[in-house]
Amino acid sequence: MSKGGNNMEFTAEVNRLLQILTHSIYSNKEVFLRELISNASDACDKLRYISISQSDVTIDELKIKITVDSSKKTISISDNGIGMSREEMIENLGTIARSGTKTFIENMSKDDDATSQIGQFGIGFYSAFIVSKDVTVLSKKFDSEEVHLWSSDGTGTYNVQQIKDKNISGTEITIKLAKDAHDFADKQIVQDTIKKYSDNINFPIYLSESSSIDGEQINTAGAIWAKPKAEITEDQYHEHYNLLSRNFDQPLSTIHYKAEGRFEYDVLLYIPTTRPFDLFDQQRKAKLKLYVKKVLISDDTDIIPPYLRFISGVIDCADIPLTVSREILQENNVVLSIKKAIKNRIISTLNKLAKDDKDKFDIFWEAFGPVIKEGIYEDYEKKDDLLKLIRFKSSNTKDGYRSLEEYIGDMKPNQKSIYFITSEDYHSALANPLLEGYLARDVEIIILTDPIDSFWTATGIKFEDKELKHVSHGTEELTDIAVTKKAKKKKSKAKITDSDLKKLIAEMTRVLGDHVSEVKINPSLIDSPVCISIGENVYDKTMQKILQQRQGISLSKPVLEVNPNHDVMIKLSDMFKNKQTKNINTTAHILLDYALIMDGEKPLNIEEFGKNMQDLIGKFN
Ligand code: ADP
Ligand code: MG
Repeated sequence: MSKGGNNMEFTAEVNRLLQILTHSIYSNKEVFLRELISNASDACDKLRYISISQSDVTIDELKIKITVDSSKKTISISDNGIGMSREEMIENLGTIARSGTKTFIENMSKDDDATSQIGQFGIGFYSAFIVSKDVTVLSKKFDSEEVHLWSSDGTGTYNVQQIKDKNISGTEITIKLAKDAHDFADKQIVQDTIKKYSDNINFPIYLSESSSIDGEQINTAGAIWAKPKAEITEDQYHEHYNLLSRNFDQPLSTIHYKAEGRFEYDVLLYIPTTRPFDLFDQQRKAKLKLYVKKVLISDDTDIIPPYLRFISGVIDCADIPLTVSREILQENNVVLSIKKAIKNRIISTLNKLAKDDKDKFDIFWEAFGPVIKEGIYEDYEKKDDLLKLIRFKSSNTKDGYRSLEEYIGDMKPNQKSIYFITSEDYHSALANPLLEGYLARDVEIIILTDPIDSFWTATGIKFEDKELKHVSHGTEELTDIAVTKKAKKKKSKAKITDSDLKKLIAEMTRVLGDHVSEVKINPSLIDSPVCISIGENVYDKTMQKILQQRQGISLSKPVLEVNPNHDVMIKLSDMFKNKQTKNINTTAHILLDYALIMDGEKPLNIEEFGKNMQDLIGKFN
């Protein structure tokens, strides 16, 4: 460890991370090389952008150089990119800014193989400590004369000092390899690793055994997006996708084309197979790099709408002025036009995938369905196209998905609307008594179990002119549809007269008082005595609970619907006639609690519920 300079302490998270990295045995140690090369490439991208947007900055050919020393067992990675000042070294190589990353580190353990995840959490630099306890970084910021040396042995502290007699441009990272990583001082092994993980890096990577010569260039360094499709292998796409997305799954689908028209640009986009860890981050941004003639000008645009943020890729357009400031980039005409075209292209690709490859689309839907649903209420213009993508389980299918088109195709004669229920899970939804009337008529019910379903379905959706209706709101239309299944229980021969029924409903309304907003008849109930429904123009439960949490809006009272033909109701009506006030009171409360439970809720008041149940059981003989 160098003497002089300042000894500084790593933050607690960095410390924990280093503890784990230096003490674990990882199977794929080579990730450190991929991460450091990716940082070197980022540094070159940044300097290239500066040199183009600021006319007073001139630069040499940007490149990355790797030097291995098999006798000293060291490897160094250097670049002539943007470099770091002393402050930047402290900021970037001593702390961790992102809160998501902090949580990741807190949950990390020595036994997991964290190596594949390191890059996506913005802690790639520290991967050097997977292969070493002794790392030094020499760096000079492009617009300064001062060179600084950062060094650490991977324990609690690091040292930063100014070096007077050194002249470098950019950054040089030198790693003294630990015993179990001596392989990375071998030229051939390093060359193979770079070929495998970093061939797509956009700057030449040279490899040599001496710092005084460049050695040979070992990567292709071509902008893969500008090449004709036929010249690119699956593996090359795969590697490029991994590089961009920081995820290590296979792309599920690749969109690669040259747009020709008013503006010309290359587009290379990837649809992932699995969810990236940050899919539900507040930022809701896609990993998209915007190039102008192979110069990276921004990796933080809003070209991809938030509900397609799982996409990663590259757009390279020669028609955007290179000097456009990042602030006004979003309003640039060319960018706006690209934005629109790209969105259409992604959605049409997804629609095509849904038609051509159902299995693949199901994988896509499992991972990204909830995100696509955000688009239905965020992007009015695309709503109909997005509705075509929607997949769901229904009362007709346990496994596999259905689409709205399929639903419409299988509608029953006289069926007016598309019916759905929102629920926490498929089986509870199916057990909800509200479904009885539908099931008896073999009318398909869409079962929606994502929290987001309560949002998009609340926006008055129509598909091919058919309204999407919550099962609570469709019971009246059901009477026009023929019953196909007989009720499981035989209907009681006795019947309540209309006037008795009216009285009974009035009595239940009185007894249940403030606990319900309404008690009413539901003639389509079959096996259940009662059920809960939601009133007209009232949000579903999930939505109501969210609004309650966020805005303090109180929940609306449930509507209790009763089955006029059910034995229990007939008994209740008799109790009423015989003035058994206490029994009516207990039964009405038990019925309300029963209905709440069948709707996935808790009884109104657990203590009373318990008492009422005991009362009831006490009556058995
Ligand atoms: P990330 O690359 O995701 O930001 P890293 O841990 O890999 O996270 O790097 C942290 C930061 O350190 C980078 O964002 C960059 O600012 C700085 N850095 C790392 N390597 C270099 C380099 N070779 N040249 C200039 N800056 C670098
Ligand atoms: Mg990095």
